Amino acid sequence: MKGYLPQQIEYVSRRGGPRLIAAALAALVFLAAGDMRAAAQAAALAAATAATAGVAPSAASPSVAAPRILAMPAAAAPGDPFLCWLRSERPVLEATARIIGPGGAKLSKAAGFYMPSEGEGFLYGFLLALPVAAPPGKATLAIAATLAADEGCASDAEALPEAGPAAVELSAHFTIEAKTFLHEDIPLDKANTALRTEPDPAKTAESLAFAKLFQARDSTALFALGAMAKPLNVAWRETATFADERRYLYFDGGTDSIRHGGIDIGAKEGSPVSACAPGRVVFAGRRIVTGNTIVLEHLPGLFSLYMHLSAIAAREGEVVAQGQKIGLVGSTGLSTGPHLHWELRVGETSVNPAYWLARPLLDKSGPTGKIEAPAKGR
Ligand SMILES: [Zn+2]
Repeated sequence: MKGYLPQQIEYVSRRGGPRLIAAALAALVFLAAGDMRAAAQAAALAAATAATAGVAPSAASPSVAAPRILAMPAAAAPGDPFLCWLRSERPVLEATARIIGPGGAKLSKAAGFYMPSEGEGFLYGFLLALPVAAPPGKATLAIAATLAADEGCASDAEALPEAGPAAVELSAHFTIEAKTFLHEDIPLDKANTALRTEPDPAKTAESLAFAKLFQARDSTALFALGAMAKPLNVAWRETATFADERRYLYFDGGTDSIRHGGIDIGAKEGSPVSACAPGRVVFAGRRIVTGNTIVLEHLPGLFSLYMHLSAIAAREGEVVAQGQKIGLVGSTGLSTGPHLHWELRVGETSVNPAYWLARPLLDKSGPTGKIEAPAKGR
């Protein structure tokens, strides 16, 4: 069988090249954040993938243990984040999760990320977001994954067809609850009206740069697994709730409507603002509309935002602990008084920031109890 492998590789390079490259990239994405065991897996993966990528992935044979969905919510509301975890005996080359709503509506889609963990097998997370406009009813979580070749057989050419990459599909159901959102009118003075309405190339440039921040995700941002903490240690006074439909009443009589992306918490100027969860500072600076602003990344593609600060006490690139002071409450940017605008985003989608105040990102009381977050500062 000596000649088998080179022939396969040649075949792959003619016919399976793009897929091989995609698979290798996916492996890199998943394994970039890995520990020593993952690094060893990567070597085995590369060989196995090269040898078998010419073989079309098929439905998992009975000999392939199907991955299991762990710890997914049984119900969620419009505007909620949706985080589910997958445990697989084999490494996963690539995986995509989708939420299909009542009537087949495609509500959310996300690629998985690799989470180093103790215990058997490999753990992957999927961060999705239910749109504010999601209709209530029965919904489906569908995960399509390509499992890596079985590493135990990677050097045994005769076993390769059975041990090659396998495509698997999993699904589970959950309920989308009904939820209504508030409407509010907000009169703006002359200065705040100008902030929203006057064309300003600097503002446009800031918006584009900000969007890029949320389009990228850092596979090494593996910081948060527990519950989140309130970012202000003061009496909790929400002056605006999540996803309010806001109508701005301009100074000149015009109006405009937006959906409020976060929670506004009224507090005295100078009150300390702290990180809601451990994470890496991916933005710390002054913006025209949001004033002094901090953005943290807690998991790949999961961000918290803190706006209108009077002072910033965190540096970009720094890893902060939960509860660590990162700034002070203020009224910078488009603001009608001292408050903290606290927001959570899954990619570019704003989600209910209060969601994980009540529950952990990963329920350690369940079958995933052995999972530990990796050390800080990876
Ligand atoms: Zn706000």
